[in-house]
Amino acid sequence: MTTDTLTRTANVILLGPPGVGKGTQAQILVEKLGMVQLSTGDMLREAKDSGSEMGKRVAEVMARGDLVTDEIVIGLIEEKLTGSDAAGFIFDGFPRTLAQADALEALMKKTGQSLDAVIELQVDDEILVDRIVGRAEQARAAGQPVRADDNAESLKIRLMEYYKKTSPLIGYYHAKGALQSVNGMGDIDEIAQGLNEIVASAMT
Ligand code: AMP
Repeated sequence: MTTDTLTRTANVILLGPPGVGKGTQAQILVEKLGMVQLSTGDMLREAKDSGSEMGKRVAEVMARGDLVTDEIVIGLIEEKLTGSDAAGFIFDGFPRTLAQADALEALMKKTGQSLDAVIELQVDDEILVDRIVGRAEQARAAGQPVRADDNAESLKIRLMEYYKKTSPLIGYYHAKGALQSVNGMGDIDEIAQGLNEIVASAMT
């Protein structure tokens, strides 16, 4: 990696249904390019585990598989957006509604930053179910806590929420000329390679 690469930044959204691998791929981008992962799901789970008032309010909604309010997640993102000298932000699981997309745009403008790429990870629904059930089984086998929403019932709701509220963002960002797609069905390294190329060329 050249010094030049180190000083360049890109702010990128990873879009795609639950279980598509957004979190896994975001972590790889953090390691490879020094970017900062902003996962609203992780932030909400931290709030839940810390036992804060907000955490208590969102716990049930999350376990069910519904989306929490725009106001809460926009507030969480706003706190993180100011001043970072890293290679840019990877938005993982945010925005999930058009209102969140508008809020993100306004926040980026306010903080003098730009959105440089929106990447959609594409997979078949049957694979998502297998991955999420597998994730729960792996956690159970390793004696780790299983996510309260990694079960067939919540997954059904999470997928419906995705198609109803989040998938319109694909059309929206496409219309803005910002959308790029990556096949999310290959192996992890192959997908990471595809993402890396897009992110590196979006860096300015
Ligand atoms: P994730 O870890 O991204 O799968 O998110 C887990 C859960 O957190 C979701 O099913 C929602 O209940 C909640 N959540 C995470 N991000 C958002 C968001 N941007 N908007 C609304 N709810 C969210």
